Amino acid sequence: MKKDDCIFCRIAAGEISSDTVYEDDDFRVILDLNPGSRGHMLIIPKEHYQDIYELSDECGMKLMAVAKKMAVAAKKALKADGINLVQNNEEAAGQSVPHFHMHVIPRYKDEAERIVCWNPKSSDPDEQAAIAEAIRSELG
Ligand code: AMP
Ligand code: ZN
Repeated sequence: MKKDDCIFCRIAAGEISSDTVYEDDDFRVILDLNPGSRGHMLIIPKEHYQDIYELSDECGMKLMAVAKKMAVAAKKALKADGINLVQNNEEAAGQSVPHFHMHVIPRYKDEAERIVCWNPKSSDPDEQAAIAEAIRSELG
């Protein structure tokens, strides 16, 4: 359901103007207002889901098909050398708009900055096994 006080609900519904790249019954794809690179897009479901925990499986599956469509189109149209798909959930992970969305970020060889990065650390086999078991046990 749409939330009246949610900016992405209002953008997805066309109540707030945006640079729309693609639209169907379930999604609107827009250019990010503060792009990390040329052609940075956001795939926004028209239904309000706050984050991936709320997202329906059906919407998630449809969304990945749209992500592929946008990645292929952006690569051709903008001559991108690569594409990042990024999706943030909760403040600790960098989510600033509490309406689920996926970033589609074209990448170019001549851009030095790394948009998506983390510091790889060494891992302890026993700890890795315990982590894997903890996650598996939640899956039921
Ligand atoms: P996140 O930090 O993953 O929640 O991403 C939110 C993104 O939405 C940021 O990259 C913002 O630049 C972008 N954004 C916020 N408001 C708008 C808007 N009105 N139109 C387009 N992009 C927006
Ligand atoms: Zn919303």
